[in-house]
Amino acid sequence: MDMDGMPDEDSLIERMAPGVLSRDGFHCADRRQLDAILQADAAAERASALTHEAIGRRLEQILQAAVAALGRPVEVAGALTACYHESMGRIPCPWGECGLFAKGEVELTDTRNNKTVRFTPLSVHMIYRHGFYQGPGSRYRIEPTEIVELLDIKPDEG
Ligand SMILES: [Zn+2]
Repeated sequence: MDMDGMPDEDSLIERMAPGVLSRDGFHCADRRQLDAILQADAAAERASALTHEAIGRRLEQILQAAVAALGRPVEVAGALTACYHESMGRIPCPWGECGLFAKGEVELTDTRNNKTVRFTPLSVHMIYRHGFYQGPGSRYRIEPTEIVELLDIKPDEG
């Protein structure tokens, strides 16, 4: 597992709580749940022969394309469109010392079935750097297997 930047584990969990960094928090109640989420998602990545760096890079490309389109929907692949919704302010990563991230969100829609996945600049960072896809029930929870399938990410892109 990627143990990048885990200075103080208690404060990491505290910063993930609702109302600390974000109103809804990251849906991760304690260290045990965080470890379980990280391990399950890492196993899903391995099953797809991908890494969170590869998945994060693809999400970053989509984020950049959506931001560049200034709020207009942009076609990012086949039947997928991405739209960036700007929001005031910036938010730090709960791991700390990773800088600040714009609070806007990308709405990624599969126009074949109108399924939507939402993610933020911080989501992309946490996936890429920490392998963290957020806890169950989070607005920004991403299932690694679903995003790999949706974006048709192939192992050789990693
Ligand atoms: Zn970070």
